[in-house]
Amino acid sequence: MDSVQPFQDLDVFRAETRAWLEENAPPGIRNLPEGPDTVCWGGRRWVFQSDDQRLWLERMAARGWTVPEWPKAYGGGGLSKEEARILRQEMARIHAKDPLESLGIWMLGPALLKYGTEEQKLEYLPQIARGEIRWAQGYSEPGAGSDLANVQTKAVDDGDDFIVNGSKIWTSYGDKCDMIFALVRSEPQAPKHLGISFLLIDMDDPGVTTRPIKLIAGDSPFTQTFFDNVRVPKKNIVGERGRGWDVTKYLLQHERTMIGSRPQSSLGEETISQFALRLLGKEALAAESALRNEILQMEMDSWVLGIAIERVRDQTKSGSANAASSSILKLLGTELNKRRCELALTIAGVDGLDAHSVAAHDWLHAPANCIAGGSNEVQLNILSKRVLGLPGA
Ligand SMILES: Cc1cc2nc3c(=O)[nH]c(=O)nc-3n(C[C@H](O)[C@H](O)[C@H](O)COP(=O)(O)OP(=O)(O)OC[C@H]3O[C@@H](n4cnc5c(N)ncnc54)[C@H](O)[C@@H]3O)c2cc1C
Repeated sequence: MDSVQPFQDLDVFRAETRAWLEENAPPGIRNLPEGPDTVCWGGRRWVFQSDDQRLWLERMAARGWTVPEWPKAYGGGGLSKEEARILRQEMARIHAKDPLESLGIWMLGPALLKYGTEEQKLEYLPQIARGEIRWAQGYSEPGAGSDLANVQTKAVDDGDDFIVNGSKIWTSYGDKCDMIFALVRSEPQAPKHLGISFLLIDMDDPGVTTRPIKLIAGDSPFTQTFFDNVRVPKKNIVGERGRGWDVTKYLLQHERTMIGSRPQSSLGEETISQFALRLLGKEALAAESALRNEILQMEMDSWVLGIAIERVRDQTKSGSANAASSSILKLLGTELNKRRCELALTIAGVDGLDAHSVAAHDWLHAPANCIAGGSNEVQLNILSKRVLGLPGA
């Protein structure tokens, strides 16, 4: 594994990065609105929305900049934290879209880097970096949501393989994904947390099917995913057999940090005060002192969250992060996002009430982020036990 480059002259790096981006970021990926129509998820079945989207992914992946901080040996850019920050800043400067969004980048990749075998790293990480495989998350089951360690999907030992039977629920975009990282019960006699393995399953394998889940509002991105005598090689276990809970928790830290840190609103880079100024204008805003106070408070809270995110990133990099930090970020980030969406709706006024408006869409979606990745009540339980040392229920 190659190490991160030594601290080099960051001004030089910034100048080179700026020049490269100017030359290589196609016009069609700049200044795009936020939203599902502009995101590239990659994968075997991905249909690029434009030639520029394809070109952008190819160019960034060739440079390792879809995963700038991963080691070069695994398809990453080998950048230091400071260099990666500069890259993000320079991309934001020209309003360039992220070339790839993926559960592989946010969740599975970090878990493989820590727990994967060298063979698994060499096989899967470059595929993730190039956007060749779209990963689904197979954690939740009908009887295992908040009580995740209760998973019942069975993996029965059969020589070099496991035979997997059971089902997962709330699989986001399960019908569009190529592979799934799934928690399975491989040691039925062991205590609950010690009988789970973390298994990589190809969703094109015989016996894997998905069924769409309809919600009260109509179609949803969720599927229920079924495993019917699916044969999975044992070499697809990540971490030790029966010790998948360790991998599960580590991955959840990354998922929770990601959910708490990524702006979940369609405002994109626009701050709430810029949004208010754009919609209401200076004069109208000047007359609304209560609204101005709310906006100010929101800006300050967002700023504080930004600092907390940077601190946790630094601590994670240096190995000194408290495992519960991700719960703090998830809780604060999603609750703040909910408030921001409410405020945006207030600012948008009557126009925001149109169910198709961006403000209404964000507001309706915000509570979902308080549930995904483990509900905020569960994060409060974790914090009360692990940080405050209070007795559990
Ligand atoms: C947008 C979104 C995307 C998702 N994507 C995926 C995915 O791709 N893959 C996947 O596997 N799962 C996914 N999920 C599922 C998600 O992980 C679960 O919904 C979540 O863990 C909660 O589990 P549950 O739905 O079974 O609710 P339950 O566990 O039944 O909880 C119901 C309610 O009870 C509360 N509660 C439960 N136990 C406690 C307790 N001990 N103390 C206090 N309150 C408690 C919860 O906070 C919640 O409000 C997704 C969910 C959402 C909303």
